[in-house]
Amino acid sequence: MSIRLLVKLRVALVQLNPQVGRLEQNIARTWSLLRKFQEKLQPAQTGEKMTTPTPDLMVFPEFALTGYSFHSKEHISSFVHKTKESPSFHFAQQVSKMFSCYTVIGYPERHEKEGKVLLYNSALVVSPKGELVFNYRKSFLYDTEYEWDCEENPNGFETFSLTFPGKGQTPTGDKIDVTLKTSIGICMDLSPYKFEAPFNLFEFASFNLENRSELMICPMAWLHSSSITKMDKYTEEEKLEKMAALEDNLKRQSLPIFGSQNDFQLDLDNSNTPRTMSRDGPDVDPTYGKLEEPDMTNVNYWILRFLPFIDLNIREEWYKQGIIKKLLSREQSDLLGSTYMGASARAAWEFANCNAILLLTNRCGVEDGTTVYAGSSGVYKFNGSMDPNESNIDSMNGSVALLGNLGKGKEGIILRDLEFDVTR
Ligand code: GLN
Repeated sequence: MSIRLLVKLRVALVQLNPQVGRLEQNIARTWSLLRKFQEKLQPAQTGEKMTTPTPDLMVFPEFALTGYSFHSKEHISSFVHKTKESPSFHFAQQVSKMFSCYTVIGYPERHEKEGKVLLYNSALVVSPKGELVFNYRKSFLYDTEYEWDCEENPNGFETFSLTFPGKGQTPTGDKIDVTLKTSIGICMDLSPYKFEAPFNLFEFASFNLENRSELMICPMAWLHSSSITKMDKYTEEEKLEKMAALEDNLKRQSLPIFGSQNDFQLDLDNSNTPRTMSRDGPDVDPTYGKLEEPDMTNVNYWILRFLPFIDLNIREEWYKQGIIKKLLSREQSDLLGSTYMGASARAAWEFANCNAILLLTNRCGVEDGTTVYAGSSGVYKFNGSMDPNESNIDSMNGSVALLGNLGKGKEGIILRDLEFDVTR
C-alpha cells in the first residue's frame, strides 16, 4: 500500500555574476553575499540559537565561480579541475558546513580517461557533511562549449537520490526521513538538442516525467534576449554599433560593462511571483531594465519547456481519440520515450495528481560586452492539478505555482519554504 508523505524543505538559490579570469574576486564576493544571508538568518545577538532554520539545499549557477564565457581550450585550461580538486568543490564543502545543507554548484571539470583529458561542464552535489554525493555532466551543449572542446555527458540525463532526514511527514504526523528522486539539468539541457531537435520532444522534461523525478535542479547561465550572439553574422561596424548600444544601456542602469555590481538582493519573504502572459502582457518587457524584477519572457519560456509537467486540456481529446497510443507505437517514434508532451498510452496526463519541484538558479551580469545573462532565478512547484479549461502554456497556467524569482540583473539569494507531496 502506498502512502502520501508531506515533504517540507527550505531551499536557497544563489544568483551570481562571476567574471572570467577573476576567480578570487568572484569567490570573495560570494562569501560576502553568503555572510549577509547568514546574518539575516541569525538573531542579532551572538551566541543565541538561530531563529530561522538554515536551508536544506543551496543551489548555485552554472560555472558559478569561474565565469562562463570561455573561448578556447587554452582559455579555460587553468580553470578546469578534477571534481575533488576543484576550488568549487572546496567552496561547496564550506557552504555545506556553514549551513548544514546540500550544495549544488556548476564548475568546469577535467577528467582523465585512458590517457586522454576530457573536459566537461559539470555540477557537483555535496552533502551537509561535506561529502561528494553526485557529479552530473551537461548533456546538451551550447555554442560556447564547442569553442573549448567540451564533451557531452556520455550517460545523458540522469537521476540520483537525495535523502533529507526528518523532512517527510506521514498522514499521522510522524516525521520521517525522505529520499527524493532528483535530477540536474544544466542550462542548455532545457533546450532542444543543439537547437535542432523538434521543440515538442521536450527532452529534459520528458526524461524527468518518465523517471518520476520529484526534484529538478537547474544551474544555469541563460542569456537575456538583449545579448549579441552569432557575432560572425555582423560586419565589424555593425558589431561595434551593437556593443556601443549595449554599453549605453548598461550605463543608464549604472552598471559597468565588465565587473559585478555588488548590489545584493535578498528575498526571504516567501512571496510569489505575479503571473504574466507571454504575449500582450503589459508587464512583459523584453528590454534589459528594472534589474530587481524577473525577466518574465524567460520565466514563461522556462515554464513552456516543462510543458509535460503542466496541465493542458487538449490531452483529454488526444486520449479519447487514441492519438498518443498510435503515435508512440509507430516505428519512427525512436526519438520518443513512453510519453509525448506529458501524455502516454496509459493516461491522458502522466503527471496528473503528482507534485514536482523545479529549482532554477541562473547567473546574471554581462560577459565579453556582448553576453547578457537573464538572472531571474526561481522556485516552481508543479502541482498536478487539473482544470478542464486549462490551455495556458506559460506562467498563467494554474497547475504551476511561481513561488518566487530574483530580479534579472542583481546578485542575491532567494530563500523559500516548500511543501509538496510524494508517494511512497
Ligand atoms: N539555451 C540557453 C540560452 O540560450 C543555453 C545557454 C547555456 O547553455 N549556458 O541561454
